[in-house]
Amino acid sequence: MTANTPRTAGRHFLQIPGPTPVPDRILRAMDMPVLDHRGPEFQRLGKRVLENIKGVFKTKNHVFIYPASGTGAWEAALTNVLSPGDKVLMFETGHFATLWKNMALKLGIEPVFISSDWRTGADPEALEQKLREDKNHEIKAVCVVHNETSTGCVSPIGKIRKAIDAAGHPALYLVDTISSLASIDYRHDEWGVDVTVSGSQKGLMLPPGLSFNAVSEKALKASKTSKLPKLFWSWEEMIPHNKNGFFPYTPGTNLLYGLDAAIDMLNEEGLENVFARHDRHAEATRRAVRAWGLEILCRVPEHYSSSLTAVLVPDGHNADDFRGRVLDAFDMSLGTGLTKLQGKVFRIGHLGDTNDLTILGALCGVEMGLALAGIPHKEGGVQAAMQYFAAQAGKPRSIAAE
Ligand SMILES: *Cc1c(COP(=O)(O)O)cnc(C)c1O
Repeated sequence: MTANTPRTAGRHFLQIPGPTPVPDRILRAMDMPVLDHRGPEFQRLGKRVLENIKGVFKTKNHVFIYPASGTGAWEAALTNVLSPGDKVLMFETGHFATLWKNMALKLGIEPVFISSDWRTGADPEALEQKLREDKNHEIKAVCVVHNETSTGCVSPIGKIRKAIDAAGHPALYLVDTISSLASIDYRHDEWGVDVTVSGSQKGLMLPPGLSFNAVSEKALKASKTSKLPKLFWSWEEMIPHNKNGFFPYTPGTNLLYGLDAAIDMLNEEGLENVFARHDRHAEATRRAVRAWGLEILCRVPEHYSSSLTAVLVPDGHNADDFRGRVLDAFDMSLGTGLTKLQGKVFRIGHLGDTNDLTILGALCGVEMGLALAGIPHKEGGVQAAMQYFAAQAGKPRSIAAE
């Protein structure tokens, strides 16, 4: 804030699909003196978070933690298991899948990109067919974004595992869960994922600056023969240090205090209840959008995201002008349309540390903003969400979303 910026009272409504609002308890947990990252106190913290983070990924295997944004963990996943010229199968689910594909190209990997209209998740049948055609097993990995944050479409990770198995193909399975981990049901071990990529600033409720690779035995084995250059991202460099709770370089010490608190909070609520809460907030948001008479970008209901909803604005209107009006009038940030979708959609983030009334506040801001921006719509979206929340409130928490 500059001295010339007038103070805005109350909390800013950060309703973008990440970074998400950081709970006070996590802010307090990080408000600590910086400590010696080679000393005994850090060692206890390091051991604790390296062990406890496994539960969030639903894995018994190792999880690597990097002092980096999610993009770093993408690069770590690719460089640790692949070699120059390797073919990888990727799905064009949206902006983030496209960025990951562009990274693969830069690294000297050869992506085979299955295109889509950015309104659905990845298709297991298309994947199975491509893998069956690959008789010589030239494809070394399948890469999928679980929750495509640019579109609000989720890919069926368990079904894609089954499709890889049905094709009898040995490719590694790499999944980006940056905006789904701790928001949407995810099972690293059960779904046979080889590398799960994630980040701190979305469902984990932390500031940006940490990212993750959860790995399988098969991925660790592949890393022994992978030839892409890596040092900062190298699992091999990390493993001997992690065994004792340490890192080969300075880790994000204070963010790790925050991670420790975030894992406790998720476990206290119960992961299944966290998922049910996200499902409920997503359903309320979709009911509001439908009542306004606007269109949800995701056209396949089974692929609806519980982390965010992308909403199309009618032709002749600009979603970013609308977002600007909402920010000025109500101090709320909504997600912008990315690349192909710029000006065409706005995104309502409903992930992280939110509750029913926060979501209603956000929906109030959207409904008032639609009127201010002159976007044709019907009233009653907030009312529809209120009715849904009120009806759900009497039910046991973990069943409420069903
Ligand atoms: C946010 C996001 C990214 C990028 O992560 P950064 O932390 O910005 O590097 C990648 N993939 C998905 C699905 C995301 O939501």
